[in-house]
Amino acid sequence: MATAPFLPYGKQLIEDDDVAAVAEALRGDFLTTGPSVTAFEEAFAARVGARHAISCANGTAALHMTALALGLKAGDRTIVPAITFLATANCARYVGAEVTFADVDPSTALMTDASMEDALARAGSAAKAVYPVHMNGQTADMAAISKRARKRGLAIVEDACHALGGAYRDADGPEAPVGSCRHSDMAIFSFHPVKIIASGEGGMVTTNDGTLAARLRRERNHGMVREPSLFEDKDQAFGPDGSANPWYYEMPEPGFNYRLTDIHAALGLSQLKKLDRFAARRRELVALYDRALAAYVPVIRPLSRTPHDTPGWHLYVALIDFARAGVDRGACMRAMAKDGVGSQVHYLPLHRQPYYRGRYGAMSLPGAERYYAEALSLPLSAQMTGDDVERVVRALAAALGLDNRTDKGRR
Ligand SMILES: *Cc1c(COP(=O)(O)O)cnc(C)c1O
Repeated sequence: MATAPFLPYGKQLIEDDDVAAVAEALRGDFLTTGPSVTAFEEAFAARVGARHAISCANGTAALHMTALALGLKAGDRTIVPAITFLATANCARYVGAEVTFADVDPSTALMTDASMEDALARAGSAAKAVYPVHMNGQTADMAAISKRARKRGLAIVEDACHALGGAYRDADGPEAPVGSCRHSDMAIFSFHPVKIIASGEGGMVTTNDGTLAARLRRERNHGMVREPSLFEDKDQAFGPDGSANPWYYEMPEPGFNYRLTDIHAALGLSQLKKLDRFAARRRELVALYDRALAAYVPVIRPLSRTPHDTPGWHLYVALIDFARAGVDRGACMRAMAKDGVGSQVHYLPLHRQPYYRGRYGAMSLPGAERYYAEALSLPLSAQMTGDDVERVVRALAAALGLDNRTDKGRR
């Protein structure tokens, strides 16, 4: 066992055709803003069933672009679940807006209709947008959340970084892929190597709204406008014969350079073709974990399963009663690492990050606190085998003193 390779909690699966796709992009005429970017965006939009897909440098840039496209600004507030990656909240701060943290269901880490309602009561009329997060790969109850958000006139942006390959199965219509924006204005994704498909760094925003899509494309590229019909300054824009000056572009508002390169897009496109296989493999591994860990209930419990979706699993989270096991989580993680098994905690509740605690004061969100106390992400990636799952479960059981071998030694 000691000689088996270290199993990280998440890792990309790169195959020969991925390498070939990147090599081909490198030999092409464009390293950025070229055909691979367009092809990736078109294939992504088609796969998730959205009208528009706008690629960008990473998932954080995608979030920032949504805040810009919605025109969020100082005095506005976004509603963000307390259990998510930093960037879901930070994107509001990038544009001067504030964040109101919503509590989550401790058995799923998802914001609920009720916890959103509670956050809205605290945010008051400053609330302008809600950012539900599909933690671990299960979707928030978007039908309920969007109904409440629409009633309040809020924009809805799904942070779908964890749920690519998943689908909504709610009562509002036939099954629809995550990213189709059935219940939202925009959805965002990341192609960081630990995510479901990898492009190195990379992100995507999907939307069915043409106006938002045009704004997102502009934010991604310095705020530049090249379409003559949109030029404001006719004197500078057009020549004596009335045709647009060939060099001319204009900038109504500054944007950013958040472009994805063709090198990254070529990898993303190649990986996207494998999404169904990767997602199916992750579902199989999740089922194997569930079966193997069932022996350790109630110390180890699986997440509750949401009824309204088919998950696109990013993480396998076990909920562990460390107090009952009598083992500190840090010690458990270190013991597993010594056995060659990586693990991680997703995430420290954002209201406990020094920056947000300093800005908004200490607060109590008991669902998020409880989830945080129990969550441990175990290795999950498309190249893992059934033997790998068994190895992880053995290492976890040993670290918690739950296996027979250590039972004799320790008690
Ligand atoms: C990964 C992730 C992000 C950020 O994506 P990057 O590509 O790393 O910038 C944002 N939100 C969630 C939930 C994520 O998992």
